Amino acid sequence: MSFTPFHIAIDGPEAAGKGTVSKLSAEKLGFLYVDTGAMYRMTAYLGHTTGVAYEDETGLAELIRKSKMELRNPTPEEKDGRLITVLLNGDDVSWQIRTPEIGQGSSKVAVHPLVRKELVIKQQEIAAHQNVVMEGRDITFRVLPDAQLKIFLTASDVVRAQRRFQQQQTKGVSTTLEEVYQNLLERDKRDRERSTDPLHIVPDAWVLDTSELAIEDVVDLIVAKVKAMRHE
Ligand code: C5P
Repeated sequence: MSFTPFHIAIDGPEAAGKGTVSKLSAEKLGFLYVDTGAMYRMTAYLGHTTGVAYEDETGLAELIRKSKMELRNPTPEEKDGRLITVLLNGDDVSWQIRTPEIGQGSSKVAVHPLVRKELVIKQQEIAAHQNVVMEGRDITFRVLPDAQLKIFLTASDVVRAQRRFQQQQTKGVSTTLEEVYQNLLERDKRDRERSTDPLHIVPDAWVLDTSELAIEDVVDLIVAKVKAMRHE
């Protein structure tokens, strides 16, 4: 008998709560949590540190092919507030990829079809033989179009900006709410308007607005739904 993995695909704009919701749902269900944004961030980081421009599509695709990208649950020693440990060619870059510069860079490298192609292959390989909660911007229609559960997680622009601002405050990043808000709108626009696989809501997605819901309540909704679907 062959094993059919259960796939939960979650898309949505920046700071809608995808990371925390996916991570906690995965933990409760015993699934693997996969943050695909981290792979676009690693690509920007690679470009930034090796001098390959964000505009250099073939150069970036080549860098991805030559690199080893790993995502895993943090070990007890690594529990410093991160949701996931990100290893690039064996080096822990979990925090280096979370800066505003790399955030902007990640959405710039993400417009290139060749970059997307390389990363989608890696993501599909990860999901091929295991149950996953995978989150990003193209999971419901490109990476896992046959996922058993598709979710579009969103929240108002103001709530998202406030969340991202608070996160950056706790990390000691010096910025203003206005700056975070403008940054977010800019990145959203690039993600929604790029010609290859722009962020959008698929017809069979369950749309969850987290503006007025506590993260734990969203997680409970998802876990209950999956258990019902799996007759548990
Ligand atoms: O989710 P996160 O903010 O870490 O993603 C960083 C950037 O990577 C996004 O702004 C988006 O441009 C890109 N991305 C993407 N497709 C995905 C995941 C992320 O284009 N599946």
